[in-house]
Amino acid sequence: MPSAPPSASLAAFEPDRAPAHESAHELASAAFGRTMAVLVGTQHPGNIGAAARALKTMGFSRLVLVAPERFPHADASAMAAGADDLLASAVICETLAEAVANCRLVLGCTARSRRIALDELNPRQAARRAFAVANDAADVALVFGRERTGLDNDELQLCHAAVHIPANPAYSSLNLAAAVQVLAYELRVAFSMDSASDAPPAAILPSEGEARNEPPATHAELEGFFSQLADTLDAIDFHKGRTPETAMRKLRRIFLRADLDARDVRLLRGVLADAQRMARLAAARDG
Ligand code: SAH
Repeated sequence: MPSAPPSASLAAFEPDRAPAHESAHELASAAFGRTMAVLVGTQHPGNIGAAARALKTMGFSRLVLVAPERFPHADASAMAAGADDLLASAVICETLAEAVANCRLVLGCTARSRRIALDELNPRQAARRAFAVANDAADVALVFGRERTGLDNDELQLCHAAVHIPANPAYSSLNLAAAVQVLAYELRVAFSMDSASDAPPAAILPSEGEARNEPPATHAELEGFFSQLADTLDAIDFHKGRTPETAMRKLRRIFLRADLDARDVRLLRGVLADAQRMARLAAARDG
């Protein structure tokens, strides 16, 4: 049973469920310690070092190596560039099954899109799922395959979902450590979201979109804003003889796409109010 030692600051959170008095920030920190990258059958030791570096830059510390071809190796240490602590604490397993035995969520990263009978997630969706599990005090594994052949079918069968980094369909295979970097970055973003507030991080909610503390603006709030926007465009002579409807239609689309909340609308209306005030001053001055 592999259990890489988490870094000292995270050790207090392992492996028990976090006590209720912990802040959301501490919960998010603990989630980093519950997440491991598993590199399967890595052929180039330099990639192991580069992957360790990628993880450490994003605040992760757990590296598991399944049957690496050559490790330890000078190329791994050279590419780790200061992340050798992750190499030193890396757990080495013979099989993927052994490596992920304790994980509640196992995500297999694959360069080949949609050729497997697994749910496919993009990195952002994967990061949200990972956070929901890691934040619930369970271990999460991100699994990466061999440079030449990726993960085999039996290995993918051990995964709960596949993760594909959207890429050029004609050239979709990233360098192993580059793929680790993309995933580690997305996880960091999801794990850090809203961590300063005690609200549950939006990352674990089913809805797409960013963390929000305010509910979406109501229909009436948006219409009030659009009406003030139309008045303001008139006041600053934006249309210059063109029909106002065309511009308003496009502007409505932009602002509706932005999924504004009530506070956003207040801010925008404040900007419009100032623009209207300046237009009135200019009109009075110009006579
Ligand atoms: N030739 C291999 C590519 C392996 S690249 C193949 O066809 O599968 C090494 C590993 O990096 C992959 O197994 C995968 O875990 C990861 N990787 C590379 N590109 C990726 C991508 N676009 N999306 C997700 N993972 C990727």
